[in-house]
Amino acid sequence: MAKVRLEHVWKRFGKVVAVKDFNLETEDGEFVVFVGPSGCGKTTTLRMIAGLEEISEGRIYIGDRLVNDVPPKDRDIAMVFQNYALYPHMNVYENMAFGLRLRRYPKDEIDRRVKEAARILKIEHLLNRKPRELSGGQRQRVAMGRAIVREPKVFLMDEPLSNLDAKLRVEMRAEIAKLQRRLGVTTIYVTHDQVEAMTLGHRIVVMKDGEVQQVDTPLNLYDFPANRFVAGFIGSPSMNFIKARVELQGERAYLVAPGFRLRTNPILGEALRPYGGKEVWLGVRPEHLGLKGYTVIPEEENVLRGEVEVVEPLGAETEIHVSVDGTLLVAKVDGHAPVRVGDKVELLADLSRLHAFDPETEKAIG
Ligand code: ATP
Repeated sequence: MAKVRLEHVWKRFGKVVAVKDFNLETEDGEFVVFVGPSGCGKTTTLRMIAGLEEISEGRIYIGDRLVNDVPPKDRDIAMVFQNYALYPHMNVYENMAFGLRLRRYPKDEIDRRVKEAARILKIEHLLNRKPRELSGGQRQRVAMGRAIVREPKVFLMDEPLSNLDAKLRVEMRAEIAKLQRRLGVTTIYVTHDQVEAMTLGHRIVVMKDGEVQQVDTPLNLYDFPANRFVAGFIGSPSMNFIKARVELQGERAYLVAPGFRLRTNPILGEALRPYGGKEVWLGVRPEHLGLKGYTVIPEEENVLRGEVEVVEPLGAETEIHVSVDGTLLVAKVDGHAPVRVGDKVELLADLSRLHAFDPETEKAIG
């Protein structure tokens, strides 16, 4: 086991700055997920940790060792790639043993490790098969097996589930989580899928345009997003954003726009004081809006009026898109609420779950 530490790490490809001043220290045995949209620098950062990409600036440590100039094979890491990179002419056993053979491990040690990994991954019966004789999920296991037998200090995984169909991806996701808990090996995992990030990561690093936006636990990212980007990226469907003016009235602050006048709770109200009379971004998640008459959210000064434009029944709940003075807000409402396109509706907001963002910096207020 080992900590991984990145200090002021930069990566430039000519004029392109792929990674800007990346800082992170993992815990021993921690599962850290890098998440962000395509091109945000996740893979490049992972490849710098692996030693597959030169660092333009900064320092990377694995354990206490500065690894900037250590070649990949000596970093004590094992990497699992998106395409698995299995050798087609070798069977499963040979694929898993190959890395150890190169490192001249004794035969019986190799045999012990391959069999142990096969047992953990439940692929003992596949050891004689070639990769082409395996399903996608089985290949994925073999790729994991090849990483496990190395008994590395750190696992690095680059979208290892992206080639699997949706159902298998959910299954393998749970297995990877279980496996990581069992082995306790520090793991850094790259994905563009926020659900995968939320379900796997002890902590998540949210990236955009080469820059770290926030490093936090899944729940903290959801409850306290640092800026509008993180707020919109984490959670599904995405948080709604609508411009609102801050109206101060005695101790209270209200967020006001045509269609609503929402009372904020004391904490947000306090943070909004300097914005009195100005516009901010109001953020509210679809699950924190209910349909009047069909929600447990009580009616207080929390009503938004609008017209239903889209109705998407999902069974237990229905997603409705409501135009509030021209801005579409998505609300997750009770699946049995009788709601139709064209209806004029009143949505009730959970006032303890409102977010506000500075209109210029887009940073969270409060
Ligand atoms: P994806 O999810 O699509 O893999 P990513 O977040 O992993 O995206 P990177 O692959 O790290 O993003 O790329 C970050 C930026 O660096 C992108 O703008 C990309 O075009 C650029 N980039 C990556 N590799 C190279 C390279 N070898 N040469 C030039 N530019 C590169």
